[in-house]
Amino acid sequence: MVDYIGVAEIQRLVHSQGVARFIERLAGEIEADYARWAEFEKSVRVASHSERGVIELMPTSDGRFYSFKYVNGHPKNTAAGLLTVTAFGVLADVKTGYPLLLSELTVTTALRTAAISALAARYLARPGSRAMALIGNGAQSEFQAIGFHKMLGIRELRLFDVDGQASLKLERNLRALPELADLTIVRCTGTVQAVRGADIVTTVTADKRNAVILEPSMIEAGMHLNAVGGDCPGKTELHAAILQRSDARVIVEYEPQSRVEGEIQQLDADFAVTEFADIVRGARPGRVTPQDVTIFDSVGFALEDYSALRFLYTLLGEQRGARTQIDLVPRLDDPKNLFGGTLGNRRTSLRRVA
Ligand code: NAD
Repeated sequence: MVDYIGVAEIQRLVHSQGVARFIERLAGEIEADYARWAEFEKSVRVASHSERGVIELMPTSDGRFYSFKYVNGHPKNTAAGLLTVTAFGVLADVKTGYPLLLSELTVTTALRTAAISALAARYLARPGSRAMALIGNGAQSEFQAIGFHKMLGIRELRLFDVDGQASLKLERNLRALPELADLTIVRCTGTVQAVRGADIVTTVTADKRNAVILEPSMIEAGMHLNAVGGDCPGKTELHAAILQRSDARVIVEYEPQSRVEGEIQQLDADFAVTEFADIVRGARPGRVTPQDVTIFDSVGFALEDYSALRFLYTLLGEQRGARTQIDLVPRLDDPKNLFGGTLGNRRTSLRRVA
């Protein structure tokens, strides 16, 4: 039998410890996995593009577990009442090849994206950062806000979205959380107002084009930019000149993938970037001076979903009581008798499981 986590189960698992705590613990798992970067099989994700969006497969393995995620990105979906991003994934045992866990990853992707964003900012943002601009107030935004409040100590959040209803929704959701009582929330009239004086700027917009959410004139010395929404070819958020500032330090997850999908797709292939794993392992510096502009050019890497799936699998193992399992793989008395054990003679050969 294969463990199964659906939407109801992820709600239960996350609420059992609280969203902020869950994000922080997941960030710890991701950090530990980035620290052993060399152990992972790494490949650029496989993308199927269409006019309205993209569907991607993201595999990786550390030789013990194998994981993959199916994820889509369809920015126009929300107009039809559908999510921009949905996902699910599998954790499997490398020894046998058997799947261990099939899980929803739509909610989990938002949690892990907040976790890696806040984790990267812990390494890169100026110590004592308190104010964050959050541009793009859709599905991912609450998770980002909660993660940065918990892990960075963000206490002032400036919101902007071209859809004012999205910002209202975000503010309403955040104000309903008692643990965010010390968070000042300001809805802004534009990106310029939101960004001015911020320590950290998170862009998490959805538009399948080379958008310019941040202009060079908006960037102040010392800022940390967490650029989340530009994550596939032809879909970016930053003006290229921001990346090319002499004081900018651009950090990516997996360089070969980011060259295709990240903000740096706008630049020459020899433009210097640093992989996040090198910073976690102390092999390369992140921020060098308080004036540096650090840019986390995030696209999402398979290792982060591996960490999330393994974390979920561990949580299932720790919990008391029944876990939901599904008969994804036949259980046979004679493994060579697949036909007889399934389609041939249902009455005798298929092992019954409670
Ligand atoms: P969403 O559609 O729910 O929200 C996107 C929001 O951006 C919408 O409210 C929209 O009105 C707003 N927006 C669009 N253009 C804007 C502009 N010019 N200025 C201000 N706001 C603007 O999408 P989501 O699920 O929140 O995802 C946001 C983005 O993050 C997507 O592009 C998605 O592909 C990306 N994403 C990246 C990662 C990663 O690991 N890097 C993970 C998940 C999602």
